[in-house]
Amino acid sequence: MSLVLAKLIEELTDGRLRIVDLTQPLSPQTPLLPLPPQFNNTPAFRIWELSRYDERGPAWYWNAFETGEHTGTHFDAPVHWVSGKDLPDNTVDRIPPKKFVGPACVIDVSAEVARNPDYLLTPERIRQWEEQYGRIPAGAWVLLRTDWSKRTDPRDYINLKENGPHTPGLVKESSAFLALERDVLGVGVETVGTDAGQAVTFDPPFPNHYVMHGSGKFGLAGLCNLDQLSPTGAIVVAAPLKIVGGSGSPLRVIAITP
Ligand code: MN
Repeated sequence: MSLVLAKLIEELTDGRLRIVDLTQPLSPQTPLLPLPPQFNNTPAFRIWELSRYDERGPAWYWNAFETGEHTGTHFDAPVHWVSGKDLPDNTVDRIPPKKFVGPACVIDVSAEVARNPDYLLTPERIRQWEEQYGRIPAGAWVLLRTDWSKRTDPRDYINLKENGPHTPGLVKESSAFLALERDVLGVGVETVGTDAGQAVTFDPPFPNHYVMHGSGKFGLAGLCNLDQLSPTGAIVVAAPLKIVGGSGSPLRVIAITP
């Protein structure tokens, strides 16, 4: 075994490294992104029992489930957006698996979001983070800590008002900076999608999706426990289901952290 891998197992075993689960529970209660009614909306997660040690299957328990690709903690592939539709290897089954592992850069804007649920990450704020913690490396996951996942009531989580949902996100210049000038894997957020709640009104609509996926980058939505990570030093493992031609999938996201 390589020394690094042996050391990894040793430090996971003795507790110097630990695994943080960045995944929210997936159930029929999982909140969904409400799109304006003229668009097709995603169905809720549905699960039903096939057998439970009974006449339907005397020695085994199993379920079947139905879900949208973009439900709960999930991965966005480049093909998800029109801007990424013609890129190579843009579906979940074709993304090179080495891109499912990368270092985390956690930008904590929870104080800003506590004051303003429509807070948008600016390039100035990213620069400020880099002055403190160093340049965001190529191949990093930039995780936007907003503490939004602490809103456990689905109504507070979606925060739907008369003019649509109000949740934090990024300005398009931040997405462009991260994708083009930092070559990140993508952006991970605690909210229901990687754009702000009001982003359908932005130019272009859903600019983080537009810019990131148009640049071949990914998204992680519905993360939690980002408050358990340091600004740098953790590694994220995020491997979506190998759905042929899939635009994304629910997944288990974990971080390995000191
Ligand atoms: Mn999505």
